Amino acid sequence: MSLQVWIDGKLVNKEDAKVSVYDHGLLYGDGVFEGIRAYSGKIFECKAHLSRLYDSAKAIRLSIPYTPEELEKVIYQTMAANNFKDCYCRLVVTRGVGSLGLDPHNSPGPSVICICDLIRLYPAEMYENGMAVITASVIRNHPNALSPRIKSLNYLNNILAKMEAIEAGVPEAVMLNHSGFVAECTADNIFIVRHGEVLTPPASEGSLEGITRGVIMNLARGSMIPMHERRLERHDLYIADECFLTGTGAEVIPVTKIDGRPIGTGKPGPITLKLLGAFHKLVRLVEQD
Ligand code: PMP
Repeated sequence: MSLQVWIDGKLVNKEDAKVSVYDHGLLYGDGVFEGIRAYSGKIFECKAHLSRLYDSAKAIRLSIPYTPEELEKVIYQTMAANNFKDCYCRLVVTRGVGSLGLDPHNSPGPSVICICDLIRLYPAEMYENGMAVITASVIRNHPNALSPRIKSLNYLNNILAKMEAIEAGVPEAVMLNHSGFVAECTADNIFIVRHGEVLTPPASEGSLEGITRGVIMNLARGSMIPMHERRLERHDLYIADECFLTGTGAEVIPVTKIDGRPIGTGKPGPITLKLLGAFHKLVRLVEQD
């Protein structure tokens, strides 16, 4: 049977899951989305993801025509229709069908889409041995232009940086902000470890307030590992003892090289491995392996 996609109240075959060419999500990137994982049949951090979705929508003055409780049911319904227990769920809310021209007011209403599918962002080997990244020349969007805290349908800023990474032969790029401080990666948040402290830039430095980031911060604090949000320069990355990235798609992945420079020993460090283990335990990946 074909994968089932939920669009505006109906489950349809993947091949028939289409939106209008007049949808402002397509024409202008006018919309918001969430990437959410389910583990063992349970949506991971559901409330936090839905809360960020509604915040993103509010920030672009888009009103979602469902309650968070209804959207949670939509995700479970789409998972059940596809017999998924462990999957990646993509909620998309577009401004909806409109006319050519930016004005969002002539649309009859937003479109809501839920896709549940499988996703693996990076090769399994990199989770074991660590990943190499570069710092991109493209900087993160200025927060007063388009706040990186909005998970909008316009990812061009991130895509341009991602292309730099691919061209440099690595899968991910660190993005600096307009002041030259570390913001985040193209689809992941970044952490470093230095002298036993875990550090990550505050969201005000131009990053998405990652849900996985929040989970890792709590796990670190719960394990009595000093954890701080701190402004970081690229220099801090180069002299870090350890580095790792977090994201719903990526989960937790060690970084062992930045701009060709080995980080720490050049192997995933002990605190990274401890937090990776704690994360796996939390989402019960270990038991399923
Ligand atoms: N930053 C960006 C730009 C992202 O798109 C994402 C989500 N893939 C993240 C960070 C990580 O956020 P989360 O842990 O909520 O998935």
